[in-house]
Amino acid sequence: MIVRAGVLYDGTLDKPKSNVELVIEGEIVKEIRAATEGGTYDFAAPCVTPGLVNAHAHLEASGEPDMMTMVATTTQNQRLLRAVENAGKALRAGVTTIRDVGSSHGIAPDVRDAVVTGRVPGPRIRAAGWVLCMTGGHGWPIGRQIDSPHEARKAVREQMKLGADCIKLIATGGVLTKGAVPGNAQLTQDELDAAVEEAHRHGLRVAAHAIGTQGIKNALRAGVDSVEHGHMLDDEAIALFKERGAYLVPTLTAPTCILEHAEGGGQPQFVIDKARMVNEEMLRNIKRAYDAGVKVAGGSDAGTPFNYHERYAYEAELMHTLLGMTPQQALHAATAVAAELIGLQRSVLAPGESADLLLLPRDAGADVRALRDVQTVVKAGRPVTCA
Ligand SMILES: [Zn+2]
Repeated sequence: MIVRAGVLYDGTLDKPKSNVELVIEGEIVKEIRAATEGGTYDFAAPCVTPGLVNAHAHLEASGEPDMMTMVATTTQNQRLLRAVENAGKALRAGVTTIRDVGSSHGIAPDVRDAVVTGRVPGPRIRAAGWVLCMTGGHGWPIGRQIDSPHEARKAVREQMKLGADCIKLIATGGVLTKGAVPGNAQLTQDELDAAVEEAHRHGLRVAAHAIGTQGIKNALRAGVDSVEHGHMLDDEAIALFKERGAYLVPTLTAPTCILEHAEGGGQPQFVIDKARMVNEEMLRNIKRAYDAGVKVAGGSDAGTPFNYHERYAYEAELMHTLLGMTPQQALHAATAVAAELIGLQRSVLAPGESADLLLLPRDAGADVRALRDVQTVVKAGRPVTCA
């Protein structure tokens, strides 16, 4: 298969290439060469980028206004069907790799396996299983509740048994769970330490939900691979991120979508109130971390209120407008950096790499919103039917 690109962004920060052809053999990019006049090709587009990588999503949720009540009032089967539907929607919108950082009953690992065996269409999936939280802590409706280092180790092993290939820890309160205060630390240092040590010993990466300052630092000291949200970080936390080489996944879309629907959206008032506070902290702190050199990876928290799996492009737009990334830097964060964090594939377009790519109607480097209008998605060398 030959794909002709007016301009090619390969996922790195290198200068984009103009008028090139990608030669794809099987699942792999074989060669990238100058386009020849009058040559034949299978696809052509003004702009080609790597497939997007969403490092923070919840496949079993579809953007319902009250996610935790939805979980409590639907059956496991109903949510499995949502997860399958959302995997298809994400893929058709250009997400070729996704990390599910918390689902109930092993739903996400099961969807991952169904995609691998070709039963259902979807992105490549990394899946955490249940989130590990304290009793009654943030996310408990999709959580395994743990209250000691011993239980933390056991819970990591249980997620592995369910088929999880990464682990999600809840280090602070959060927005969507009633009564959970985002600024307060939840799992303790010794619980976080035990979970991270156990997960890393088995080669599983660890993501920690952390909004409050103390919980962010606890998670980083425990050695997590990424902090999710991170909105109340301070200078000491920034130094810890850099010292440990941890990634920050700021999920800018999550509070933004809640507040865009604050009026008449049917969300609980406590969700809106907490999102307001978190949004202020996010706008105050995240750009500072990015400017200081913290590695920022794209992840939208898709599934949370009004935050749809097929709208991951919005996270790239917000990284551009709120963090001051250039469109190419935002694309880099939403492809190669997120892929590096997940450790599943590189998501760069170069010879020998998986042929995951998007055909776009205009130059995403000039206007990052071009990612909203994907014409064709290719995953592992195969065009995805965009119905
Ligand atoms: Zn989340």
